[in-house]
Amino acid sequence: MEPDATITCIDCGGVAHLLSTWPDDDPPQPGDIMVYRCADCLDRWDLELPVDEPGDG
Ligand SMILES: [Zn+2]
Repeated sequence: MEPDATITCIDCGGVAHLLSTWPDDDPPQPGDIMVYRCADCLDRWDLELPVDEPGDG
């Protein structure tokens, strides 16, 4: 599961870019915190990487 490189800012609708990075040998895990910063209002958003839905495959 790959975190989105950008999200829509919840406050202003601008583009918030992912600040967090992960090394190749330690990929993002469900529950990891992804930090985004909005390019427009400079708000910071900490989002948790969602856990994969069980029972689908
Ligand atoms: Zn914003």
